[in-house]
Amino acid sequence: MAKPVLLTVDDDREVLRAIERDLRRKYGSEYRVLRAGSGHEALEIVRELKIRNNAIALFLIDQRMPGMSGVDFLAEAIKIFPDAKRVLLTAYADTDAAIAAINEAGINHYLLKPWDPPEENLYPVLDELLEDWEAAFPPQFEGVRVLGNRWSPASHNIKDFLARNHVPYQWLDIETAASDAEVRSLVELLDEEETRNLPMVILPNGVRLRQPSLGELAEHAGFKTRATEAFYDLAIVGGGPAGLAAAVYGASEGLRTVMIEREAPGGQAGMSSRIENYLGFPSGLTGADLARRAVVQARRFGVEIISAEATEVRVDGPYRFLKLANGAELSCHALLVATGVQWRKLDAPGVERLTGAGIYYGAAMTEAMSTKDEDVYVIGGANSAGQAAMHFSRYARRVVMLVRGSSLAASMSQYLINQLKATPNIHIEYNTSVVEAHGEDHLEAISILCSETNEVNKVPANSLFIMIGAAPNTDWLADIVERDERGFIYSGPQLTRDGKRPNGWKLDRDPGLLETNVPGIFVVGDVRHGSVKRVASGVGEGSVAISFVHQYLSKVV
Ligand SMILES: Cc1cc2nc3c(=O)[nH]c(=O)nc-3n(C[C@H](O)[C@H](O)[C@H](O)COP(=O)(O)OP(=O)(O)OC[C@H]3O[C@@H](n4cnc5c(N)ncnc54)[C@H](O)[C@@H]3O)c2cc1C
Repeated sequence: MAKPVLLTVDDDREVLRAIERDLRRKYGSEYRVLRAGSGHEALEIVRELKIRNNAIALFLIDQRMPGMSGVDFLAEAIKIFPDAKRVLLTAYADTDAAIAAINEAGINHYLLKPWDPPEENLYPVLDELLEDWEAAFPPQFEGVRVLGNRWSPASHNIKDFLARNHVPYQWLDIETAASDAEVRSLVELLDEEETRNLPMVILPNGVRLRQPSLGELAEHAGFKTRATEAFYDLAIVGGGPAGLAAAVYGASEGLRTVMIEREAPGGQAGMSSRIENYLGFPSGLTGADLARRAVVQARRFGVEIISAEATEVRVDGPYRFLKLANGAELSCHALLVATGVQWRKLDAPGVERLTGAGIYYGAAMTEAMSTKDEDVYVIGGANSAGQAAMHFSRYARRVVMLVRGSSLAASMSQYLINQLKATPNIHIEYNTSVVEAHGEDHLEAISILCSETNEVNKVPANSLFIMIGAAPNTDWLADIVERDERGFIYSGPQLTRDGKRPNGWKLDRDPGLLETNVPGIFVVGDVRHGSVKRVASGVGEGSVAISFVHQYLSKVV
């Protein structure tokens, strides 16, 4: 924890140095002693400390200073740090002013200059005040803080990125400034331009990022965004279960391995509130937990994990070059594509405009707390929608699942159907679809069509979570690898048609089981044409692929 601050202010440099020395000598191990030569300079320090979320325990201020008196300074400073203890330093002639200030500025004590010896005239007073301050002082939050608006898509993306990457953060909703003193005091210190351009991320070192992109945030929050080497044996794009498994097996078997992930390791599985069918976890585990464990395991074997988006692949002889969105480039011999799938978009009026402002794709677990005591709508009938409904039922007053079909049996595991039925605040509406979303700057209502009666019902809604299937994002690989009409990548025997190997294939062997039409580029997990969309199958493919990578590398020059 950052040490709380003792701030002393005096325009006389000799006195200032003396008091600073005495404060450091006695309190330096537990407190940070800061000094300023004027009230104005000190107020700047006070404001900066507040923005950094540092605490001030005590002000020790000279009364008679040009420009701003000690009392005037304290009147301003205690608006920002109302709990800090206040001591005025006065000359004998100013005693009356000091006594008057006890009421005026809530001074706790005044001390006469000189205070020698401090053991008698300074420390006993300060000891008592600091003991009182410590007893009442709530521990400060020390991590990243995000100031924004609940209904802003950009705020949601930042919170989601931090949460999925296990970065602890404090969310400060500007809408609560009237009722929340902490938010209010922070907002008052920012200039108008800053409060107009939210969200703002405030890092523990005081750096303020205004409306940062996820790439910028990753860079400033200490993520690795560039490769340390120019060349790797194996580069993996995508850090879902398939990519993570490949990374663990690759590195554990001695390959120089790099894994590039644009959002957060864990992929779709990382968004699951409870995975109950993964072997070895009889009472289930959260996707976040699985991702965290896998990342630790990968790092232990020396995998380099880079937070960036891969945007281009180039093939040059035995080398495969990867370009990243941040401009960096790296090369490898074997490239493994494990980019999974993304949620399919719901095509209905109002949905795109309100996405991130009450409408979310996936379970968006960062929003769960804000749905407390509200009605939540979930669209979808597969396991992901069922898990999300179970998760939100712990916070929301009621969860309504909107299912297009007339039953869940074909699309959802039986154990989940049983759990949904046994949860009293979950309500399932079959034969329904959302045909419009309404709201000015955030979701206020949805129109639901019942396909049996053809009736459209408009109901109030603040939170809608959409989980209606998924599509691969492989356009960036379009000129390189062969894909099906939906964008899933072909591999192995799928590439041999009428006994012919794929176009441009020059090797004297067929493409390996998980190899694409480009030798040395492999594909695993949900993004692969014909794959089984499960955590275990992704993990299986990622692990197995490494033996094909070894076979390939043994022949590559
Ligand atoms: C909410 C939910 C619950 C689920 N529950 C279960 C369950 O209980 N049991 C089960 O077996 N399965 C479950 N699944 C399915 C399972 O999670 C997926 O089958 C599995 O995650 C697929 O793994 P993957 O590694 O192939 O792809 P993904 O998990 O999709 O991971 C792909 C990763 O690649 C990254 N990426 C994509 N493009 C790029 C790029 N250009 N550059 C860098 N990175 C990129 C993405 O950000 C993502 O992190 C669930 C899925 C969801 C969404």
